[in-house]
Amino acid sequence: MDRKYFIGVDIGGTNVRVVFATDSEFLLKIIRPTQKKGSETTLINQIIEMIELGLSTLQIQKEEVFGVGTSSAGPFVDRGTRIWTPNISGDGNDWKDVPYLIPLQEYFGLQCKYGLANDCVSSVKAEHLFGAGQGFSNLVYVTISTGIGGGIIVNGHLLEGKSKNAGHIGHLIVKKDGPLCGCGQHGCIESIASGKSILRRAKEQGIIVKDGTELTTKKVFDLYREGNPKAKTLIHETIEYLGIMFSDIISLTDPEIIIIGGSVFMNNKDILLPRIIAYISEHSFRQIAEGVKFVPSELKDFVGDLAGLSLIFPPSVIQRWQNLKPWKHKIRIIKN
Ligand SMILES: [Zn+2]
Repeated sequence: MDRKYFIGVDIGGTNVRVVFATDSEFLLKIIRPTQKKGSETTLINQIIEMIELGLSTLQIQKEEVFGVGTSSAGPFVDRGTRIWTPNISGDGNDWKDVPYLIPLQEYFGLQCKYGLANDCVSSVKAEHLFGAGQGFSNLVYVTISTGIGGGIIVNGHLLEGKSKNAGHIGHLIVKKDGPLCGCGQHGCIESIASGKSILRRAKEQGIIVKDGTELTTKKVFDLYREGNPKAKTLIHETIEYLGIMFSDIISLTDPEIIIIGGSVFMNNKDILLPRIIAYISEHSFRQIAEGVKFVPSELKDFVGDLAGLSLIFPPSVIQRWQNLKPWKHKIRIIKN
């Protein structure tokens, strides 16, 4: 039987997404909240259940699946066949690491191809193959979302590191004695400029919504747009710290292009992008920073899906997808 189907798994702190694809199109996406309680096999069982639902909905046999590529939330350590992801463990359970590849291999067999990577490392690969990074050999992908992360390609080579955590940009320290970060350090950029941190700082600074509803990160930016002075100060300060982070990234990696994604950035790029660029032009090592392009993610919501798939696509399928751009079309979604 021909192995002509591809499965991409995107394990996030909030949702697990499983996509089913052919060499030319997306067939289906299933989205469910990430289960965080139960035994150590809870996560992989949830993923296999979602895969089974997709296969039966599409009437595909598991022997027809070419490969399963997984992009997992970080910080992330690939322990052979197991994964350790503190952003998913915790919250009532004490998972230190969970089995991953062996249950998948038991389900699909050894003829199926498997890929597994930190979401930021696989996202830069997806942007390089299919998005704004096409044609560049030196690029950095940065996501500014609930957290902050990134991935780095230098001279066409994807940086992985000893535990596949190279490019953990969110934990660059930008402020001495700054806020406590989830990683245990103080003053990481994630503890200042992630969506979660912007909201926490706004609450600490007494920013409130006039109608009495609960403050959200989106509402902090809405208040900025309305000219609220406290929100303005907070967002300008946030941009300065992001500027320090980008300046450090440029000095360290000498990129041609920096691609920025993530919901906090994408929803507010009109505010953030020009100010980040202005900061860099004034505060960076000029000879290295000059000419570096800053662009929003082209793959938007599809970064995670393509991140998983990019780990298993053979070269011929990569080329076909580059030409056809299936992520530009509507995709069938099953939620919950
Ligand atoms: Zn940190």
